[in-house]
Amino acid sequence: MTGRGSAGAPGTGQPGLSDEPSVPYLDLRAQYRSIRDEVAPAVARVLESGQFVLGPEVEAFEREFAAWCGSRDAVAVNSGTSALHLALLACGVGPGDEVITVPFTFVATVAAIEYAGARPVLVDVDPGCGTMSPEALERAITPRTKAIVPVHLFGQPADMAPILDVARRHGVRVIEDAAQAHGAEYRGRRCGAMGDIGCFSFYPGKNLGACGEGGALVTGDPAIAARVRLLRSWGEERRYEHLHKGFNYRMDAIQGAILRVKLRHLDGWTDARRERAGRYGRVLTGTAASPLREAPDRRHVFHIYAVRVPHRDAWRAHLAAHGVQTGVHYPIGVHEQPAYRDLGYRHGDFPASEALADEVLSLPIFPELTDAQMDRVAGLFRAGLPSRDRVGETAGAASR
Ligand SMILES: *Cc1c(COP(=O)(O)O)cnc(C)c1O
Repeated sequence: MTGRGSAGAPGTGQPGLSDEPSVPYLDLRAQYRSIRDEVAPAVARVLESGQFVLGPEVEAFEREFAAWCGSRDAVAVNSGTSALHLALLACGVGPGDEVITVPFTFVATVAAIEYAGARPVLVDVDPGCGTMSPEALERAITPRTKAIVPVHLFGQPADMAPILDVARRHGVRVIEDAAQAHGAEYRGRRCGAMGDIGCFSFYPGKNLGACGEGGALVTGDPAIAARVRLLRSWGEERRYEHLHKGFNYRMDAIQGAILRVKLRHLDGWTDARRERAGRYGRVLTGTAASPLREAPDRRHVFHIYAVRVPHRDAWRAHLAAHGVQTGVHYPIGVHEQPAYRDLGYRHGDFPASEALADEVLSLPIFPELTDAQMDRVAGLFRAGLPSRDRVGETAGAASR
């Protein structure tokens, strides 16, 4: 049967398409199968312990993750969004403050700024890399600016040297949104450890993913770490003694135990992602799909492998009809989202972000993706985009 996500071609009714190999966008089951024997005892340990929230597994994960990031402290929370929210609060961000970030990001980056009561001020991105433009940042600084949130988009670090320089000159904090950038490096320094605080997500599809929700902050400032520890658990220093108005943002022990197992594999998985990105770069050469720029002073970890392609939506449908799942990160900038109309921005305010939103396409990338699957994706691009009424008739030829 040619159901959605199967090997077949939904809606085309083409016989023969169903035995083409399918290329899923992501295959979390393949990853699980490769570490099942390590995950099972880790989960059993938590179940036997009876301690299901925070506790020794989460504390051990915090130590291991901080060291892996090259930072002093890590504080584990229940999502990347919670990490951003607490990071902003720990930097003293509140009503009346402005926080500068980009429109070309996942909505959580901007949402967290509003959770903290501050006003999100958006600046455009570099058209090549898709990360915050340091020049646009400089122009947006006002006396009310309290913090800057650069996003390490798709796993590539933002241009941190000029961003940190602007922050230092104006006395504002830098909170890195490293939700997509575990282990990414900028001039040899790991994402999360460059600003005042780095925020990570362990949503299942991220490069380091829990079996559920999870997140963490890393910081070199022990006072910030101590404050965030209080805030994630009701501002409680001793039981039922609440020093601050806090939140229930604690990490589950099962997630901590599973993340410890996965962290041991992450460097290998990152190498595998980078190898696959290298192969895509080679096999896509000369096709309509041009990869986003990888800056030479940065180690991209390819959470997302994004290409720019004209007629993106037609390509996406064509690839889907041939069993290749893709994503679009992101089709609409936050400034044009219906929910964020009240920020007062309009179409045309951020030309680089808007051009990217129109043309980006995310190709399947994960450590278990095979060469044959990648060649299949590239082969479709090389064959070209048939005009819409010729999709059916060229499908057989495109599948060799
Ligand atoms: C995933 C993501 C977040 C939010 O993380 P959650 O764990 O889903 O709350 C924030 N920013 C970016 C850039 C992300 O990709």
